[in-house]
Amino acid sequence: MLRFVAISSLKNRYFWKVTVKEIMERRVMHMDLDSFFVSVERLQNSALMGKPVIICGSSDRGVVSSCSYEARQFGVHSAMSAKLARQLCPQGIFISGDMDAYSKHSRIVTEIIESRAPVVEKASIDEHYLDISGMDKYIKTATLWAHELRETIMQQTGLPISFGLSNNKTVSKIATNEAKPNGEKYIDLGLEKQFLAPLSIKKMPGVGDKTYVQLRSMGIEKIETVQQMQVGLFQRVMGENGVLIWKRCNAIDNNPVEPYSEQKSMSTETTFDKDTTDVQHLKRMVVSMVHELAFQLRKQEKVTGCVTLKLRYSDFQTHTFQMKIPYTASDHVIQKKLLELLDKNYTRRVLIRLIGIKFSHLVNGFNQINLFDDTEEMVKLYQAMDKIRLKFGDSAIKKAGGLGMGRRGEGHLPPGKDA
Ligand SMILES: [Mg+2]
Repeated sequence: MLRFVAISSLKNRYFWKVTVKEIMERRVMHMDLDSFFVSVERLQNSALMGKPVIICGSSDRGVVSSCSYEARQFGVHSAMSAKLARQLCPQGIFISGDMDAYSKHSRIVTEIIESRAPVVEKASIDEHYLDISGMDKYIKTATLWAHELRETIMQQTGLPISFGLSNNKTVSKIATNEAKPNGEKYIDLGLEKQFLAPLSIKKMPGVGDKTYVQLRSMGIEKIETVQQMQVGLFQRVMGENGVLIWKRCNAIDNNPVEPYSEQKSMSTETTFDKDTTDVQHLKRMVVSMVHELAFQLRKQEKVTGCVTLKLRYSDFQTHTFQMKIPYTASDHVIQKKLLELLDKNYTRRVLIRLIGIKFSHLVNGFNQINLFDDTEEMVKLYQAMDKIRLKFGDSAIKKAGGLGMGRRGEGHLPPGKDA
């Protein structure tokens, strides 16, 4: 049995096509829906307007995944325990999240943006990056265009959204955060560093609690301080991450806006030693491959919005079957969808030579989504399994559904990466 995992990307190709000047003069827009999950709940129930709404898992030991601005006034924030949130805001309206509804509304917003913007990257369920470079030359000013797009989204969906516009992704994302809620912020060319300078280093993407403590111990509080320091110091003290932070603080970020078509997808497939029609065996194989790939997905802190099943028959005819799913990184959700695809499409009962699965439409936000997508027990199970896998390697653990592999004398090869 042969198996490999492919993680494909055309990212690097982009750089060969653009000049330094083009990078400097890019117009990159970052759009972020304001307290998105709460906004969707309010669309479905207008009585929630103006109230402190908190989205979290159903149990008291769950975690807050989103909350309204009214709830934030009580000190509630994302990633806080639901128990603490209840103490801080007893009058809060606590709602268990609805991933199907959020995924649906997320896709409506994506469709509106993709129908208007030339290059769109969906970064998470409620965030998009748009490359609208050159817009000024042809249609209207980028700022006016961006403003109109925001108005259109709000009119058509009823969801509040904010954006930032500058010459790169990092600065635009920070500009969005400064514009929130319900606002827009433009950073003129050449003024990027000036905009960042007075802000707290904590506002820089990639600076988590640990890095923040480290930076504070170096006497750094504001981005301005980093701008005045030498990059070499950051490299010595913090390694590559330090260099990245230094660059971002200096408004240097050449990362391209990556549409789905050029984005990473993940896939794995299994070629059988002996062709098979054994449905149970095929199902076990799907389950096993899902475990492997979903682990990779969680390791990258991503979720998938689209799964594909690939079947190659003994006559080498190959068929693929695709299904959009609510954004998730959970084995049991993905597995159910892929098994549905198998049940629905493997009807010929002819010999199968190869079976494969693929996750695409990958976006960030595993932590945000996973908090209520699953029961607490499932989240804990995944965390425990992933820890063991990280420590001892992928083959160290298999859930019961994946057992029974290799019964037919097939060798189980560890997944490899194919760039
Ligand atoms: Mg948001």
